[in-house]
Amino acid sequence: MNTFVLLLVIVLLYVFVLSPMPQNQLVAHDARALVITCMDFRLIDDAVYFLNSIGYNNNYDQIILAGASLGYNQNIYECWGKTVDDHIGLAKQLHNIQEIIVIDHMQCGAYKLLNNLTEITREREIELHKENFARFRQTIGQKYPNLAVSTYLMDINGQILQLEQNQNQNQNQNQNQNQH
Ligand SMILES: [Zn+2]
Repeated sequence: MNTFVLLLVIVLLYVFVLSPMPQNQLVAHDARALVITCMDFRLIDDAVYFLNSIGYNNNYDQIILAGASLGYNQNIYECWGKTVDDHIGLAKQLHNIQEIIVIDHMQCGAYKLLNNLTEITREREIELHKENFARFRQTIGQKYPNLAVSTYLMDINGQILQLEQNQNQNQNQNQNQNQH
C-alpha cells in the first residue's frame, strides 16, 4: 500500500510540478520565439521533440528553409533571406517574439548542394555549421539587436551536438551596434 501511495505521489508531482505547463492556446497572444529549421523530412518530429524538451511547447512561430542558417546566409536563392526577414518582422509584430532559434542538422543536403560539395567529412561539416551560425548571429544581431539568438546543431539521430555556440545567449554584444 505504501508503494502505491509513493507511486501516486511521484506521478502527481510529475504531472503538476515537473512537467512544463502548456499555455492556454485559446487565449495566448505571444510566442517566445521564431524557429528556423531545415526542410529535411528526417528530422521534422525530432525538432518538435527537442523544442518541447527545452520548454518551448507550441510557443514558437516556425519557418522552414533548406539549410536553416545556411539558407538564410546564402545568396544563390535571393528571396530566402528577405522572406525570413519578412517573417521575423511579422512574428515580432503579431506575437512579440523575443528570440530567434535556428536548428541546423548534420548530413544536410543543402550544405552539400549550396557549397558545391559531393563529399564532406563530419569534422568539416561541423565547421561549416559553426561558420554559418556565426554569420547568422552577426546578421540577425545587427538587424534585430533586441532579439536573442540561439543556434543548435542536430545530429541525424535527433540528438543535439554540443558546440560552444549552442548555449542560449542574449546577444548583449549587439547593444552597441546600430540598428538599421
Ligand atoms: Zn537539411
